[in-house]
Amino acid sequence: MERVFIYPQAEYDPEGVRAVAREIIDSSGVAPKGKSVLIKPSFVYPSHHPDTVGVVTQPPFIAGVARALKDLGASRVMVGEDSVIGPARAAFYAMDVYRHIRGVAEPVYFDEVRHVKVDIPDAEVQDRFIVPAVWPEADLFVSLPKIKVNQFANVTLSVKNNLGFLRQAHRVTNHTDGTLHEKIADLYRVRPPDLVIADSIVAGEGQGPMVASPVELGVIIGGANGVAVDAVACRVMGFDPMQIDHLRYLEARGVGPLSERDIEVVGERLADHVCDFRRPSTELEGVHRNLRVFLGQEKCCAFGCRGMTRCALDAWLEKDAEIREMNIIVGRGVGDLPSDLDPRRTLVVGDCAAEHRKRGAYLPGCPPLPMDTAFGVQKFQGFVPTPLLMRDILKGYVAGYGWKAARFFRGHSDPLRMGE
Ligand code: SF4
Repeated sequence: MERVFIYPQAEYDPEGVRAVAREIIDSSGVAPKGKSVLIKPSFVYPSHHPDTVGVVTQPPFIAGVARALKDLGASRVMVGEDSVIGPARAAFYAMDVYRHIRGVAEPVYFDEVRHVKVDIPDAEVQDRFIVPAVWPEADLFVSLPKIKVNQFANVTLSVKNNLGFLRQAHRVTNHTDGTLHEKIADLYRVRPPDLVIADSIVAGEGQGPMVASPVELGVIIGGANGVAVDAVACRVMGFDPMQIDHLRYLEARGVGPLSERDIEVVGERLADHVCDFRRPSTELEGVHRNLRVFLGQEKCCAFGCRGMTRCALDAWLEKDAEIREMNIIVGRGVGDLPSDLDPRRTLVVGDCAAEHRKRGAYLPGCPPLPMDTAFGVQKFQGFVPTPLLMRDILKGYVAGYGWKAARFFRGHSDPLRMGE
């Protein structure tokens, strides 16, 4: 029987989070005393705009958990993450993470540290991953997912949070229908978390991951078994965890339980917090009158090119921003295209649509990188209508790419060795 804790916490108050986190750490039987601890929040992309409160793990939440781990004797607390857009430092700067963790924890930028290869025996689809060495080497791994829906994986909780350990180019490998959930399950087995403390004070519904709308849950959900925590979080969101493929694969391997019979919920009653989160969509057809869409009949992945394109467009669609005329070609087996398509207004997405690459701006890849897809859409729609603090993002870009250039000219040194 796995125990999952649901405790009330209405505000992003670091001291309130600290008290709840201590309770969860103590009750889970996790002993941080004298240990190095890696905390992995979910940043997604560089923004601290209030609209993203349902998208990213909030910095005061991270600070509260880091302080709790220090209270309980952790020798070293690290906060490690990357960013889907730009270098990891851009996300840390934009979210002002430094101010919140100063004196308690140190930042670890996954795009700058030493990586190692890890083999997964008897994998579903991917038997080797290249991950930051700090992940398998830290004494304790504490996952801090933001609870939200996800266009590709249905939900993004502690299991899916591990995708952030992969380099941006490696995240899109096996990001297709029929391989994505399998890959997520394989990656989880690199190292399951010793503890999950999920940011569910404000969760995210709708078009997650990029523009999820906030839902105030006012609780923190945690426990020592990530699959069990995710099963409870799914039920809170109104999802059946047995319908989430990556969770089902892990349950079948005995990594963690999904059934209510095998999970004891401690603290608040689960039934008092069950919601019906708005599901995300990967549809492109009929979403706006100015979008003319040509989809492949043989292959057109919801978890790949199609979803990636919708994800990029959502920055405009969800803000009710003006959508300019645009043609979109995605997938294999599109058939004959009209002869009047204006190539200056046409985006061709993914390797499966390569035969049409001369009909407009072409994004190669299976699927293309999220950042390239976002910039591809931006080429036709103008700047993303989400106000970001450009100064902080630019600082992050300069610091991140400057660091990479310095590392290149100095020769590759090991930036993070555990145990020193
Ligand atoms: S290139 Fe083809 S197989 Fe790959 S994600 Fe796109 S549609 Fe799917």
